Amino acid sequence: MRMAPVATNPLDLIGNTPIVLLEGPSEAAGCEIWGKCEFLNPGASVKDRAALGIIRDAEERGALKPGGTVVEGTAGNTGIGIALVANALGYKTVIVMPDNQASEKYATLRALGAKLVLVKPTKFKDPNHFVHTSRRIAEERDGAVWANQFDNQANRRIHEATTAPEIWEQMEGRVDGFTCAVGTGGTLAGVGLGLKAKDNDIRIALTDPHGAALYEYYAHGELKSEGSSAAEGIGQGRITGNLEGAPIDTQFRISDEEGLHWVAELLREEGLCLGLSSGINVAGAIALGKQLKADGRDNPRVATILCDTGFRYLSTIYNREWLEAKGLPVFGWL
Ligand code: PMP
Repeated sequence: MRMAPVATNPLDLIGNTPIVLLEGPSEAAGCEIWGKCEFLNPGASVKDRAALGIIRDAEERGALKPGGTVVEGTAGNTGIGIALVANALGYKTVIVMPDNQASEKYATLRALGAKLVLVKPTKFKDPNHFVHTSRRIAEERDGAVWANQFDNQANRRIHEATTAPEIWEQMEGRVDGFTCAVGTGGTLAGVGLGLKAKDNDIRIALTDPHGAALYEYYAHGELKSEGSSAAEGIGQGRITGNLEGAPIDTQFRISDEEGLHWVAELLREEGLCLGLSSGINVAGAIALGKQLKADGRDNPRVATILCDTGFRYLSTIYNREWLEAKGLPVFGWL
C-alpha cells in the first residue's frame, strides 16, 4: 500500500503534491506528459508554495514580527495562500485585487478572514495598479510587510528547493522537458533552475497565453504583446525579478481556445477539474513533447503544472453565458 504523508503541522501539507501521467495529452503528443497536481495544495493552487516561501523569508529577515500583517496584490490565488499561511502563524492579511477576477476568489478570501481591497484593472504603469496599491498600503501600515511576489525571489527559491526536486524524484530522474505559463515567473524560473541543476539537458520552455509579452521577448528580444486571454493568474508584460536569469530554452504561444479544449478533455476523459492556466500549460507541454521528439529525443518525458482547481471558476470557464459573452467555445455539456 502507498501511504500518504503524515503531517504534525498543517503548513507541512503545502507542497509534496502527487504527479499524474495524463493519458489524452500523452496520446496527442506521442510521448509522456505528466501533470504536477498543485491544485491539491490546501489553498487549491500552486501559489500556496510561494505564500509559504515569502512569509518564512520575511520572518527570517526579521521583517515580519508576531502579530504583523502581510499585504499583497494578487489575481487571487497568492492571496488565498497567504491568508491560510498567515492564519496558521498568527498574522493578519490585506489583499489587493483587480475587480474583474472570478467571484469565487473574492468570496474565498473573505471567508478566510483576509481584508480585501478591490481596484480597477489598469496597466502596470498606472500608480493605482493592484501591485502599487498593495505596496503603498504595506508602507503606510505599522507592522506590515509587502509580499511583492513578482520581484521577491523568495518566490522562485521555494520552487527551486521543493517543486523541482519533487518532480525529479517522482519521475525517477528521467525528465526531458518542463514548461508552464508565467504570472510572476516564480514557478517557471524556480523549477527551471532546480531541474537544470539536476540535468542541464532538460529543456525548459515558456508557455505564454495571448496578450502576454514574454513569448516575443524570449523569441526575439522584444517585449511585445498581441491579443488577449481570459486566463487568470498568467500573462506577464515585463521581466519580473523572479524571471531574471531564468534558464528558458524555448517558447510556445497557446490560445484560450486550445487551453479550454484541454480543460474540457481533462475533465471529461480523466476526471480532473482545473482552471484555464492548467489547460494552457498542458497544451504547451504537448508542443514541447512534439518538439523534443522532432529533435530526435527518444520517448521524451515532459512535466507541467496543474495550477489550480476548476471549482474556483464555476462562474467563468464552466459557465455557458460567460463563455458565450467572451466569444469562447462552450463545452458540449454546459
Ligand atoms: N496559474 C494560476 C491560476 C495562477 O494563479 C498563477 C499565479 N499567478 C499561475 C498560474 C502562475 O504562477 P507563477 O506566479 O509562479 O508564475
